[in-house]
Amino acid sequence: MPVIISGGRVIDPGNLDGIKDIIIDDGKIVEIKDHEASRSTHPATRIIDASGKIVTPGLIDMHVHLREPGHEYKETIESGCRAAAFGGITAVCTMPNTDPANDNQQVTEYILKKAKEADTVRVYPVAAITRGLEGKVLCDYGDLKEAGAVALSDDGNPVMDGQLMRMALEHAKRIGLPVISHCERRDLVAGGVMNEGEVAKRMGLAGIPNTAESMMVMRDIELCELTNAPLHIAHVSTSESVRAIRDAKERGVPVTAETAPHYFTLIDEDVEKYYTNAKMNPPLRSHADREAVLSGLADGTIDVIATDHAPHSSIEKKAEFNLAPNGIIGLETSVLLGLKLVEDGIITITDLVDKMSTNPARILGLECGLNVGSLADITIIDPARGFTVEADSFQSLSRNTPFDGWNMKGKAVLTMVGGKIVYEDN
Ligand SMILES: [Zn+2]
Repeated sequence: MPVIISGGRVIDPGNLDGIKDIIIDDGKIVEIKDHEASRSTHPATRIIDASGKIVTPGLIDMHVHLREPGHEYKETIESGCRAAAFGGITAVCTMPNTDPANDNQQVTEYILKKAKEADTVRVYPVAAITRGLEGKVLCDYGDLKEAGAVALSDDGNPVMDGQLMRMALEHAKRIGLPVISHCERRDLVAGGVMNEGEVAKRMGLAGIPNTAESMMVMRDIELCELTNAPLHIAHVSTSESVRAIRDAKERGVPVTAETAPHYFTLIDEDVEKYYTNAKMNPPLRSHADREAVLSGLADGTIDVIATDHAPHSSIEKKAEFNLAPNGIIGLETSVLLGLKLVEDGIITITDLVDKMSTNPARILGLECGLNVGSLADITIIDPARGFTVEADSFQSLSRNTPFDGWNMKGKAVLTMVGGKIVYEDN
């Protein structure tokens, strides 16, 4: 049955911005026209009233840990996909640090099979740069691409060996896959568990200096410049990283970057409030770093907002701070926190759609956008809808969020993947 999304503000950056009707049939967009009383021409149609709402190309979260295979008690592909749909996200990229790691065709194919069974949002596997994410031997990128991988990353681990990283970029370029770099100098982390500074001192915890991230960002930018291979920097958290990426882009280096909602929302002082639910890697940084990340989002230095959705069980997160695992979940809160940036005047709603849809699609070479003939992957956002975050009612199997109980304004109210409604707020 055809569906009309009627009377919403349709925003597809660089393509559309206006009050439109989108007509969907057989999984695809068959018509986009100025809003009018189009109902009579489509008698058998379901009409979704989108007046007062924002209609965007499906949101893509390019940095997600779904934990399957290997750690299904934290998250399965099925539960992660449901969480994404609830958050207005129509596609996720799954990082390869599963058990076994996604460093071969079998695991890539297994993930895609599970995603097909879940039949909710699209799942795009990111495969490992090196076997077992050990930073020693490169994987077979041709095989991985053939199996369906859309990018390469050892996320969770840095590729410490510079020569190996150079070879990875060269091979990846030849095969046509972007490399996503987890930038971290383990020697400079030196056992640190949160941001280095006054708060760490007060809490009696070992600190991680900004340099542990930015020095690796600078190395990888240099390697990107040397190889001219597309490089995407994951989870940018420091002012020095933002500056280095900004300078590199000005020189024409093919580097792109993402940050996560927690880095533009929280700072290290929040670790005292949320404890292990504010423990992540890279850590929450200083006020000045948060300001730099916001300016990087505003001026386009940071192309993408991705969650680094990292589920862990409550028991694991209840450990003492030094021992608790890193990471928080984000699929069900990223749009809310992104809309807060718009509300606060940091970026426009069009910028937000760019960073959560258009830009990740461009970086990964995925189909995206609202055009006649394109797949009907669509998110509808109600910017006026009040919503209180309740971790206990999350679709995710995990609860590790610092945003529990936060009152937000604006929410994704409908998620459509290939013409099928996978989430609808009632
Ligand atoms: Zn990472």
